[in-house]
Amino acid sequence: MLTQRSTRHREPANGIPHFKVVVIGAGFGGIGMAVALKHAGTENFTILDSGNTVGGVWRDNTYPDCNCDVPSHLYSFSFAPYRDRRTRYPGQPEILAYLQNVVSEHGLEPHLQLNTAISEATYLDTEGSWWLTTTCGHNIVAEVVVFAVGQLHRPHIPEFPGQSEFSGPAFHSARWDHDQDLHGLDLAVIGTGSSAAQLIPALAGLARTVRVFQRTPNWVLPKPATHFGPLARIALAVPFGHKLYRHALAYGADAVLAPIMRRGWSARPAEWAARRYLRREISDPVLRAKLTPDYPVGGKRILVDSGYYQALNEPNVELITDPITNITTTGIQTADNRHHHADAIIYATGFHASEFLVPVTVRGRGGRLLHEQWSTGAQAFMGLAVPGYPNAFLIAGSNSFNPAGSNPEMKERQINYILKCLRWREETGAATVEVSADAMGHHQEWMRTTLAKTVWPYSVSSWYKHPSGRVTNPWPSSARTFRRMLRHHPSQVFTAMTGLGTGRTSTTQLASGKGLVGGTTVRFEQTGTVRRRRTR
Ligand code: NAP
Repeated sequence: MLTQRSTRHREPANGIPHFKVVVIGAGFGGIGMAVALKHAGTENFTILDSGNTVGGVWRDNTYPDCNCDVPSHLYSFSFAPYRDRRTRYPGQPEILAYLQNVVSEHGLEPHLQLNTAISEATYLDTEGSWWLTTTCGHNIVAEVVVFAVGQLHRPHIPEFPGQSEFSGPAFHSARWDHDQDLHGLDLAVIGTGSSAAQLIPALAGLARTVRVFQRTPNWVLPKPATHFGPLARIALAVPFGHKLYRHALAYGADAVLAPIMRRGWSARPAEWAARRYLRREISDPVLRAKLTPDYPVGGKRILVDSGYYQALNEPNVELITDPITNITTTGIQTADNRHHHADAIIYATGFHASEFLVPVTVRGRGGRLLHEQWSTGAQAFMGLAVPGYPNAFLIAGSNSFNPAGSNPEMKERQINYILKCLRWREETGAATVEVSADAMGHHQEWMRTTLAKTVWPYSVSSWYKHPSGRVTNPWPSSARTFRRMLRHHPSQVFTAMTGLGTGRTSTTQLASGKGLVGGTTVRFEQTGTVRRRRTR
């Protein structure tokens, strides 16, 4: 339980709302954090979201046939199991409904402030709290702020010469314009990532033509059947059946998929399976050559999809690999001097994924700007905390996206750890908790050496990487390792400050000793119990 101190809502004299915890973002991460806070006994929190409903990416992405390539029995919270015995891969509407159910079942509605976007978050050195400013100029004070804005929420539309001259509708896959009737039109889809692979088959069925503009081919593996067969349904009906299935999926992802990224034992079989699938689906050798990647499997996100290749075989679908030179009023011009007529352009061109927390201006201790510190790519301790930013946490921060498993699970681990930090803060009566620079240094060293063993540093560019080349998004190991690395008590890596400002301050690092960093035992700074020191 977080103590009563945490449940008291304070309204300062100047009328500015003051919360114990402000959670920014109401997707999987923010909702999971809010449920954890409620379970811990605090009501003194709010969840802010710039959208008009909860759901994060599952609210934003409404393109045709949007769905998830991870089975929902795994892609769900452990505290709100997905128990459907018919559907293995539900679509976007079902996943959004699942999240909305979690919100109502856990009574989160009174805590939600929708249509509220934060533009600035400033740590107040003398108060030990955060001053948040909305885009409308309102202020909120937070003792603790949790950024749960995800990695894939800001659409990226590349710039092409002449783009603004295009006379038809043009929109991003994550901002689908449902007012546009695309039946019988000539459509251009730019990009061939996971979003494009899902929406192209649907568009092929309704448009006159679909021209797909590919820059880099992807490795594609077939997706298992969306619905369970009769035997699986019986197995899921037995007590603990779905739980066993969830564990088996998690284990399988760790044992088979995660090693692909590290060029481990399963990389060759995965490449073999992907090549075989390509050969089986695409009989035209020219098209097959265009679709064959020249980088290692796992170098960018593997597509798990059974409709994409089939759609490319349709007579009204054409794959174009010549680079786009410019956009005209009526279509797209490519480097081979061909003009491809288009009535509408769909940008399936991904997200500003490596720009974490943009567009919020975050100022930490002493007014330090987080984005200046992150100019060559974000870095955070276990994707959840940064030294110099006390009482601030991230969910799904840098290098905590699991490319081989369930991201709700990764977020739940971070949430549980953040809760441990908050409990520890309460127990010690500390004003602030902050990850130590030492622990961050050890973590970065582990991250550097572990990333070096993956395919990403040597592979093509993708949303896994910052433009500087630094791999900023994916987690380089297994989900099990992530879980293990968050098992320690925060006192081993965080500092709790019982005083504030420039006066006399005490630093508390209660449990000195060992912390687990990536399976290696690392000794963190030992401070005994309470050490008094003068700060700046
Ligand atoms: P993405 O994977 O980043 O793909 C963007 C595509 O746009 C790539 O093919 C990219 O080509 C292309 N592109 C970008 N700029 C371009 C330019 N200037 N000219 C030509 N092509 C350009 O984005 P996404 O498909 O939206 O997927 C993003 C992530 O969202 C996925 O990796 C996944 O994690 C998540 N997602 C998940 C699911 C799911 O089922 N779980 C579904 C959809 C999305 P290059 O490859 O050459 O850069």
